[in-house]
Amino acid sequence: MNNDIERVIYSAAAIQKRESELAQQLSDEYRDKKPLIVSVLTGAVLFTVDLFDKMDIYAQLDFIDVSSYGGGTQSSGHVKLLHDLKHDIKGRNVLVVEDIVDTGRTLKFLIDLLKDRDAKSIKVCSMLDKPEGRVVDVKADYVGFNVPNEFLVGYGLDYKGFYRNLPYVGVLKPSVYAE
Ligand code: 5GP
Ligand code: MG
Repeated sequence: MNNDIERVIYSAAAIQKRESELAQQLSDEYRDKKPLIVSVLTGAVLFTVDLFDKMDIYAQLDFIDVSSYGGGTQSSGHVKLLHDLKHDIKGRNVLVVEDIVDTGRTLKFLIDLLKDRDAKSIKVCSMLDKPEGRVVDVKADYVGFNVPNEFLVGYGLDYKGFYRNLPYVGVLKPSVYAE
């Protein structure tokens, strides 16, 4: 699997270090708010778990699944809900945890969906942000790293469902797409 990677953008150590900083900030912000952490399946799971276990506060965890990419490297442009939350978010402080914000369509869809449910607050923490890819006006409140407009894999991010278990974030060799 490592042989398919052209270059590493963020090493496992760099990611862990940044997560500790974010977890500290989030713990300060949510200390007395008992937030509901909403992890967006499947890409954000690795990031969510590593962030969550660094947060020393009362918090609950839930998952939501939306689709936009459909397996390739280009966003399909429309988003749909595949799996909903178990928790009622009415009156809750919700923190959405995403893997990456590109066009922003997924995040916009999610925020609009959750806004209709009377949460007390909704904020977003994304491991990665690709500001150049933005098509709709939406922004994460907390960002791990800003990344260039390239297709990335690893640490939750997939290509055709694979590479999520790489401990770092990197760029695939062009030969992998040619297969
Ligand atoms: P958006 O709706 O903002 O265009 O895309 C958000 C979703 O597309 C992310 O949650 C992620 O699943 C996927 N995505 C966006 N950019 C990348 C990327 O560089 N690599 C991978 N593997 N997925 C991406
Ligand atoms: Mg995603």
